[in-house]
Amino acid sequence: MGLAVRDLTVRYGQLTAVSGVHLEVADGEVVALLGPSGCGKSTLLRAVAGLERPAAGAVCWDGADLAPVAVHRRGFGLVFQDGQLFPHRDVAGNVEFGLRMAGVDRAGRRARVAELLDLLGLAGYQDRRITELSGGEQQRVALARALAPRPRLLLLDEPLSALDRALREQLALDLARVLRVSGSTALVVTHDHDEAFTLADRVALMRVGRIVQTGRPEQVWRAPADEHTARFLGCGTFLPATAAGGVVSCALGTVALPGVPDGPVRLGLRPTALRSDHGGRLRGETLARVHRRDHVRLLVRLDAGLDGPVDAVAGIADAPEAGDPVRLSLDPDGIAVLSRP
Ligand code: ADP
Repeated sequence: MGLAVRDLTVRYGQLTAVSGVHLEVADGEVVALLGPSGCGKSTLLRAVAGLERPAAGAVCWDGADLAPVAVHRRGFGLVFQDGQLFPHRDVAGNVEFGLRMAGVDRAGRRARVAELLDLLGLAGYQDRRITELSGGEQQRVALARALAPRPRLLLLDEPLSALDRALREQLALDLARVLRVSGSTALVVTHDHDEAFTLADRVALMRVGRIVQTGRPEQVWRAPADEHTARFLGCGTFLPATAAGGVVSCALGTVALPGVPDGPVRLGLRPTALRSDHGGRLRGETLARVHRRDHVRLLVRLDAGLDGPVDAVAGIADAPEAGDPVRLSLDPDGIAVLSRP
């Protein structure tokens, strides 16, 4: 059992922010709601929390409709982008807040606070002032506070997006571990696919108020529902292909993609699908290059196979300059096979 959102619609005046959404989160499961800004993710999360009133449909827990249950009686823990900590309390005072509300005695609170601060890498931080913490530390405290009363569902709304990039990546890994270790059931809103895939057992992709696809991260990554979804997941080039016996043939060559059913398919290529390779069969001209963190992104016009320019990647050490000829080969890891050709 767990959370079941049934045919949920939420409106703000004339605007339908969430439209007929079905979503389930099983006990112990972490589901990420992933989609571009403005697609209705936060609204859906807030409706689950009880902070928005649905125009239609229901939010149920273990089969029971939560409509009559107030926000603070739902047994859910909430973490927002900016933590929303109590600035006048110290770290322990923040983390133990829900335990106090639940009437846990002092010794019980102290033990639970220490346990959570340990889990979140903040051992010994009990007496620190909130205003003295870094952004990342504050989000860890917010998470500890939400987890302390052992909520039956944790609702996380862009919990990492206020942090700078390096910190976000580290905290995403830590958060994934904390969710596993604490056995949490969670719904996480994010617009960042790396974050969604790091955290979630299952990803629900949203677009203009609707869920367009749900699946395990590798399924969604490998087989986006449609071109729109594929673009959101990093594919920039699309082309028809034919699959036979786990080998896919397209205008750029053939590539092994085991498990793809025989017949016509549509491929979506991420930049990493085309790699600079001295022995590569595809020849073209480098139109532009830009240095990324651990590789160089190229824009290449191919001599044959595709009309428009394509994105490709090269190693930092041997990346061609703009104007240079380049040879590319196909890398199956960068290729998505659209579920609807
Ligand atoms: P996301 O979380 O995916 O960025 P939101 O759920 O915040 O999207 O917003 C969905 C849509 O609802 C957007 O068009 C947004 O402008 C609108 N919206 C969100 N909150 C409100 C509100 N309180 N009043 C009116 N419109 C809102």
